[in-house]
Amino acid sequence: MVADKGNESHQHDVLKSTQTVIHLALDKLGYPEEVFELLKEPVRMLTVKIPVRMDDGKVKVFTGYRAQHNDAVGPTKGGIRFHPNVTEKEVKALSIWMSLKCGIVDLPYGGGKGGIICDPRDMSFRELERLSRGYVRAISQIVGPAKDIPAPDVFTNSQIMAWMMDEYSRIDEYNSPGFITGKPLVLGGSHGRETATAKGVTICIREAAKKKGIDLKGARVVVQGFGNAGSFLAKFMHDAGAKIIGISDAYGGLHDENGLDIDYLLDRRDSFGTVTKLFNDTISNEELLKLDCDILVPAAIENQITEENAHNIRAGIVVEAANGPTTLEATKILTERGILLVPDVLASSGGVTVSYFEWVQNNQGYYWTEEEVEEKLEKILVNSFQNVYDTAQTRRVDMRLAAYMVGVRKMAEACRFRGWI
Ligand code: NAD
Repeated sequence: MVADKGNESHQHDVLKSTQTVIHLALDKLGYPEEVFELLKEPVRMLTVKIPVRMDDGKVKVFTGYRAQHNDAVGPTKGGIRFHPNVTEKEVKALSIWMSLKCGIVDLPYGGGKGGIICDPRDMSFRELERLSRGYVRAISQIVGPAKDIPAPDVFTNSQIMAWMMDEYSRIDEYNSPGFITGKPLVLGGSHGRETATAKGVTICIREAAKKKGIDLKGARVVVQGFGNAGSFLAKFMHDAGAKIIGISDAYGGLHDENGLDIDYLLDRRDSFGTVTKLFNDTISNEELLKLDCDILVPAAIENQITEENAHNIRAGIVVEAANGPTTLEATKILTERGILLVPDVLASSGGVTVSYFEWVQNNQGYYWTEEEVEEKLEKILVNSFQNVYDTAQTRRVDMRLAAYMVGVRKMAEACRFRGWI
């Protein structure tokens, strides 16, 4: 389960720290204050009430959001999260991160994000379908293949995308596969979408390892979180010859210096990314983060590496597969200690990149092979990593600030050319 620590004040911190780095990035790039005023919040934020007839016959009213951070570059793009801890501030912060990711990998999009306060683990299949369709009806006026393109996020999947696409197509009176990405293959989904985030993280790890002179063969890797991002990533690293010495989920961690049997763990994990409950000999997540390793990948939730534990991290490289796992104070400590930190907005941008490929394929009606998708993803992420790394070196800033500088520049320029600022 993701983001269980979320609450209004914590989410406020996430939004605030994102705004702090955007401000710094714009200052470094020499933009005036009004650019920050425009980019510090989404340009559009819709709150909706969704009445759903539950299986017991009663109507339950859910609250949902859709944030569109900035549409100067092109339509907005970003996932829809179903979670009890969704808040307006979290959705806003996530939409800003999406803008940055799109800027870093140079996609023709701005950032968007959606969320519904609900717990899908307590809902039936049919209730989830009614909620998904109700959400699309509620936001239909501001979304669409050329306006704002949703996708899956925490606790939403290809089935939910399929219902949403169907509902939008009925409203639009036209089959609209380009309305949403992360669909099943038979409805216009793209090869490689399910594993795209983990693939992207793997490419960033490989590039970071080259910079630090670490050989991936035999490298000791620790992964926090064993869901969509963490489990596939562990598998890809394992297949590349690395030794996965630690993994964890919400209930604890597993540690084996000789390397864990990742195929076995993948086989036994449930759909919420839980596997450690099957074992007696576990360690805590806090202990897991302090393990001596070459590469540490937080792939679970926000605020895991903080000023309290940053001094105890014993990895040469930290690659953020999760959104917001390291606080700004911890980023400073890790950077000062010479640990190479690859920030979330770069490391986890593989998902939106392949979502873009899916949208392009839908618009063309011409579909690519898995190899074509992988080749294109590889090229984009290698270039983006190098671009952020070079910016960090030449501007003498940490990788997070460098990624924000790269990510915000195109958006700011597009706003300027449009005459908005
Ligand atoms: P998921 O729900 O599939 O898995 C989350 C994992 O984290 C599970 O193993 C869960 O048990 C674990 N977890 C939850 N709370 C924890 C805690 N307190 N301590 C340790 N582990 C905990 O989610 P996911 O899709 O893998 O996403 C994980 C992170 O990666 C999130 O921050 C998400 O925003 C980010 N991300 C995911 C994608 C994607 O395509 N899946 C894309 C970009 C970013």
